[in-house]
Amino acid sequence: MIRKFITRLLGKQTALGKRVEIAHAQHQIDASRLPNSALTVVRTLQQAGFEAYIVGGAVRDLLLGLKPKDFDVATNATPEQVKPLFRRALLIGRRFRIVHVMFGREVIEVSTFRAAPDAQRAAAVDGDERNTRELAGKQHAVDASGRVLRDNVWGAQDEDAARRDFTVNALYYDPTRDLVVDYHHGLRDMKSRTLRMIGDPAQRYREDPVRLLRVARFAAKLGFDIAPATRAPITTHAELLQGVPSARLFDETIKLLQTGHALASLEQLRKLGLHHGLLPLLDMALGQPGGEAFVLAALGDTDARLAQGKTASPSFLFACLLWPQVESHWRAAQDEGVPAIAALDQAADEVLGAQSARLAIQRRIASDMREIWQLQPRLARRTARYADALLEHPRFRAAFDFLLLRARTGGAEPELARWWEQYQQADADARAALLEQAAHAGADSTVRRKRRRRRKPAAGADAAPTAAE
Ligand code: ATP
Ligand code: MG
Repeated sequence: MIRKFITRLLGKQTALGKRVEIAHAQHQIDASRLPNSALTVVRTLQQAGFEAYIVGGAVRDLLLGLKPKDFDVATNATPEQVKPLFRRALLIGRRFRIVHVMFGREVIEVSTFRAAPDAQRAAAVDGDERNTRELAGKQHAVDASGRVLRDNVWGAQDEDAARRDFTVNALYYDPTRDLVVDYHHGLRDMKSRTLRMIGDPAQRYREDPVRLLRVARFAAKLGFDIAPATRAPITTHAELLQGVPSARLFDETIKLLQTGHALASLEQLRKLGLHHGLLPLLDMALGQPGGEAFVLAALGDTDARLAQGKTASPSFLFACLLWPQVESHWRAAQDEGVPAIAALDQAADEVLGAQSARLAIQRRIASDMREIWQLQPRLARRTARYADALLEHPRFRAAFDFLLLRARTGGAEPELARWWEQYQQADADARAALLEQAAHAGADSTVRRKRRRRRKPAAGADAAPTAAE
C-alpha cells in the first residue's frame, strides 16, 4: 500500500516537474514588446484574484527575440469566470472550451489550466467519433479524482505544463512580476537550442501522433537540435500518423508548410523519415518526374513571401503541391483524346477525389485550386476577348504567379509568362500590339478551340495536343 502510494507520488513528481521561477536578469524578456491587449488580459484576470500568464509560443518567441505571431494566456479561472471580466469575449468550443477576448482585430486566446492529455484535446477538436468514445472512457478515469468538468479536465499549472509538447513550449510569463515560470528546464533547452519532448517521448507520440509533425515543424522554425531521446522513437512511430483524422492532418500540414519555413520543414521531415506515407500529397508531388523542382520552387516562394510580410494562401500552395499529379493525369486524358480543357477538369476531379480520403481539403480551398489550374490553359489563349476577361478574374493573380513558377521550372514557355507580365502593365495601344504579336505566335490555340465542340474525336484523329504550352 505505502509503496504503491510512494511510487505514485514519485511518478507524479517526475511527470509534473518542479516549479522554478526565473527572474528578469536571466530571462531578459523585453516587456515593452508585449501588446496592450495581452497585458490587459493578464492584469484583469490577476486583479480579479486569478493566476494568469502568457504562455506557449509567445513566451518562446519573446525569449528568442522574435516577434510572436499571437498571444495566448493561461489561467486558473474557468471560461465562465473569464468571460464576464471582458467587454468583448466569446466562449469558443464545446469539448475544449476556451475564451477569445477581442481587441479590435486582435484576439487573445485564454485557456484554463488543463490536466487532460492532448489526445483528448485532439479528439475534442475534430470531433472524431472513435476518438470521442475513447475520450469518454478516459474521462471516467479522471472523473474519480473529481476534476472533470464536462469534457474539460481542469488542472493546476504544473499539470498544464506537463501536458504541453516541448519544454520550450511550456514556459509561462507573468508580466506583472516579470517572472518566467519553468517546470521542465525549458529555459536551459532554449539556451542550448534543444527541442525536447516533455515526459516519455514514445508515449507522447502515441497519445497524439501529430506531435511527430510538430517536432519537424519546430526544429525547422527554430533551427533547434532535436534531443536524441525525442528523435529516437520517431521513425518507429511514424505510421501512427495514418490514424490521425484528416481535418487535423490538414491543419498541421498547413502550419508545417505555411509558416515561413516550408523548405526547412520538408528537410526535417526527410531527415526524420516522415515524408513517406505521411503526406500522400507531398509524396506524390515529389515522386512525379519533374515534380520535385516545381514543388520545391513553390515552397521556396512561399517562404520568401512570408519573410517579406506578404501572405500566402493555402489554395495556392496546395494547387502547387498537387500540380505535378494533375499535370500527369491531364496529359494522360489528352492522350486518350479528351480535349485539353475537359481533360484538365477530369484530371482535377481525379486528383482532388483521391486526396479527399486522406487530406480534408476544404471545399472553398479545393474550388480555388481548381480555378488556378483551369486558368493555366486559358492563359495560353491570348485573344482580345479572353485576355481582358482573364485580367478581371478573381484568381488571375494567383494563376499568373502559378504560371511564373511553371515557366521558371520548365513547365511553361517563359515567353508566355513574360507576355502576361507586359500585358498587365501595358496601356490600350500596347495591349493591342501585344495581342497582335500573340496572334502571330500562337496558331495552335485555334486548333484547341475547334476540338472542344467534339465530344470524342473520331478514331485516327490527329494526335491530341499535350499540356499547355
Ligand atoms: P506557433 O508560433 O508556430 O503558433 P505555438 O507554440 O504557439 O507556435 P501552437 O500550435 O499555436 O504552437 O500551440 C500553442 C501551445 O499549445 C504550444 O506552445 C504548446 O504548449 C501547446 N500545444 C499545441 N499543440 C500541442 C500538442 N499537439 N501537444 C501538446 N501541446 C500542444
Ligand atoms: Mg500559436
